[in-house]
Amino acid sequence: MAEKYIPFLKEEIEKVIEQYPTPFHLYDEKAIRENARRFKKAFGWNEGFKEYFAIKATPNPYLMKILKEEGFGVDCSSEVELELARRVGMRGEEIMLTSNDTPASEFHAAKQLGAIINLDDISHIDYLEKNAGLPETICMRYNPGDLKQGNLIIGHPEDSKYGFTHEQIIEGYRLLKNKGVKEFGVHTMVASNELDPDYFIETADVLFNLIVEVHQKAGVKIRFANLGGGVGIPYKPGQKPVDLEYVSAGIRKLYEEKIFGNGLAPLKIFFELGRAITGPYGYLVAQVLHIKKTYKNFAGLDASMANLMRPGMYGAYHHITVLGKENEPRNRKYDVTGSLCENNDKFAIDRMLPEIEPGDVVVIHDAGAHGHAMGFNYNGKLRSAELLLRENGEIVQIRRAETAEDYFATLDFKSLKDFKA
Ligand SMILES: *Cc1c(COP(=O)(O)O)cnc(C)c1O
Repeated sequence: MAEKYIPFLKEEIEKVIEQYPTPFHLYDEKAIRENARRFKKAFGWNEGFKEYFAIKATPNPYLMKILKEEGFGVDCSSEVELELARRVGMRGEEIMLTSNDTPASEFHAAKQLGAIINLDDISHIDYLEKNAGLPETICMRYNPGDLKQGNLIIGHPEDSKYGFTHEQIIEGYRLLKNKGVKEFGVHTMVASNELDPDYFIETADVLFNLIVEVHQKAGVKIRFANLGGGVGIPYKPGQKPVDLEYVSAGIRKLYEEKIFGNGLAPLKIFFELGRAITGPYGYLVAQVLHIKKTYKNFAGLDASMANLMRPGMYGAYHHITVLGKENEPRNRKYDVTGSLCENNDKFAIDRMLPEIEPGDVVVIHDAGAHGHAMGFNYNGKLRSAELLLRENGEIVQIRRAETAEDYFATLDFKSLKDFKA
């Protein structure tokens, strides 16, 4: 099986470990920037094209600043994420709020920042108007129901909690137009971790058809179409990444026909990808604590599901490299585990690997999105540090590891003294 690329050598990472103990997440700035530029270039034909990085994937302000410099905005889905964007210096249309079951305070915060608000439900029109006032620009999230197949992770669109129905969204544009809203967008997202490039072209088709219909039925000219997130990454060696140039060419063809052809240009194309922006360029680095041989062979790491939950939660595949043993035969079978008191705390089950010994450094690939971000404190586990490999080869810490004091920060031990049990 082909090995996956790693942007550092064993000796280099051993030096890093002396300063920053394992486990930690490490992101590759150069690769993230190159990927961002390639994405933008692929859609260079579309004036106003913008990617709003879904910060829930990797909410680190240093990465956000890098992506901002590359011309990206951010997609937020909570008040704290909006605050994070604010602290990175983002404002106005650099920020999109795509949330659901949205509290008033979140609409308020988005409005204060001048962010683009993406409504999830027709009832939110009144709710937003009452609680924050309607902004000049509004986007709505479309749930195409049976007009589009969802993918495995998101499931059938009709069962999904997100978005307006077809009838509701057309009514929504009429309502908002009457209420004086001036600029309109449309959004949809019906896939997650999808590797089929045609899927995204079909999604654009669904939205472009809707844009034509909204113009006919509600007299509204939509200014931007947000195609959502959900572009997958090749977690398994041998899988093919989504060819963004191909996706762009397919969308461009539909744009010429349906948008330009119906006099609805210009229309800006937006995405709000998370995983495809940083996922492949982040690595969880851990060390082997124990090799245990019972009915199976277990390699116990100093990392756990608290550092990367996807394998335990979804049975997701993450490739594992034992550093320095890349050229040894993968002829031993291991369950690679963490130390949580949960039997699903496994990074891999029945994985063929070279023979592992305690002290080996293990790299878990594709942990750059929905990795550290999904961390938690169950079992008193502390979230790990995040490091950045800069373009000049330097390693900087962009988030320190949690300490026990962080874990205790929400508890008041002073009052405990007076508390009678
Ligand atoms: C999670 C999410 C994204 C990002 O998804 P990825 O799979 O990381 O690309 C984008 N938009 C919305 C609304 C989301 O919920």
